[in-house]
Amino acid sequence: MLPPETELWNRVEAVVRGVFARYGFGEIRTPVFEDTQLFARGVGEETDIVSKEMYTWQDRQRSESGVGQSLTLRPENTAGVVRAYIEHKLADSGMLQKLYYIGPQFRRERPQRGRYRQFWQIGAEVIGPAWSGSDSAIRDAEVLEMLATLLDELGIKGWRLALNSVGSSTDRPRYVAALREALEPVKAGMCENCQRRAETNPLRVLDCKEPGDQAVIDALPKIAEYLDEASREHFAQVKAALDACGVAYVVEPRLVRGLDYYTRTTFEFTVADGSGLGTQNALLGGGRYDGLSEMLGGPKAPGIGFAIGEDRLILTLQAQMALAADATLGAKKLDAFIAPMGVAQNAAALVLAKELRAQGLTVEVGDGTFRLRKSFEAADKLAHRMVIVGEDEVSSGILTVKYFEAGEQTKVPRSELAQVLRG
Ligand code: AMP
Repeated sequence: MLPPETELWNRVEAVVRGVFARYGFGEIRTPVFEDTQLFARGVGEETDIVSKEMYTWQDRQRSESGVGQSLTLRPENTAGVVRAYIEHKLADSGMLQKLYYIGPQFRRERPQRGRYRQFWQIGAEVIGPAWSGSDSAIRDAEVLEMLATLLDELGIKGWRLALNSVGSSTDRPRYVAALREALEPVKAGMCENCQRRAETNPLRVLDCKEPGDQAVIDALPKIAEYLDEASREHFAQVKAALDACGVAYVVEPRLVRGLDYYTRTTFEFTVADGSGLGTQNALLGGGRYDGLSEMLGGPKAPGIGFAIGEDRLILTLQAQMALAADATLGAKKLDAFIAPMGVAQNAAALVLAKELRAQGLTVEVGDGTFRLRKSFEAADKLAHRMVIVGEDEVSSGILTVKYFEAGEQTKVPRSELAQVLRG
């Protein structure tokens, strides 16, 4: 990633941090690699991520135990946040924890536009003991409303929120059993992946994109029919709160998402075709994970979170800005380029640059060995104005300023220089 693109990344992250702060989130930074077991247990052995996409290695032997530890580059960040929640006893405060992260994740995928082996996620988690209200539907709705606000503030157009409930940890096994039973007579006609998943993890069959399998999948039982009273009520409350906030959504019964830890609310935000993402049109995904902390050996700590694909956010913004011919896409020019006329003026030029930078101006300094023409060309590329520092300028304190856009040149006393350059 190079400038000026990194400028856009920084602007996006500044907006994101501002929105998160308004909603009461604080930043967490977890390690880039963790014990492999954390992901195997947290994300689930049968998921694509754990079964084939993780970067895992056996670390050197640790002298105490005599065995090497298996380590993995994080493929996602929720497991790491929940591990930190447990390890640092964040439950002890009795308060809801609202944590966000921004950082790289790693998955061995087939690289294509919008799908990389190192990619960035911006995510957040709301987690806490049940008495902190962490399992309330208001938390789900607040997170979704925040995401809608965030995408709007970033200027993302045409996003769509798909919503579903995958039920509680007791609803799911009942549904999975029904799915397995319904798949039994039809699976032989399905794709190889579906045949395997029908055995190992029938929920994943719903993710299948194979055109030939769609009719069969559409006829399978729907999770909504297997939600117990409490899950149904929870989902109804989430939807009612979103309606009240004016956040539009579409209920998608097949949305079960790729990670095993989800319970109840699951969601995904996509952008329409032509937004620069092509087939990789999922901007972000997330959901509730009420049992994850216990799966990782911690206390009961319901939670909900999401991860935004930052690379995809940037691609979408770039495509949408290009359509709108947004001038802010290009590199920003500096306020001034300081050109020493000889090597003897190099130090004086540097002092002048230091003064101007201290006053908040963006400044680049040339080199006294440059011919005037070379200084001009460099300055014209980089900055709006060039300040000439020759022998006379240093002794008189009156500087020559060249304005590229206007094609003019004036003399400015050193004491007024910052103000003039800013104007
Ligand atoms: P997940 O952690 O799989 O739920 O993904 C959450 C979001 O991360 C997705 O909606 C994508 O925007 C983004 N994402 C996931 N995998 C990749 C990848 N390999 N490259 C780029 N973005 C990704």
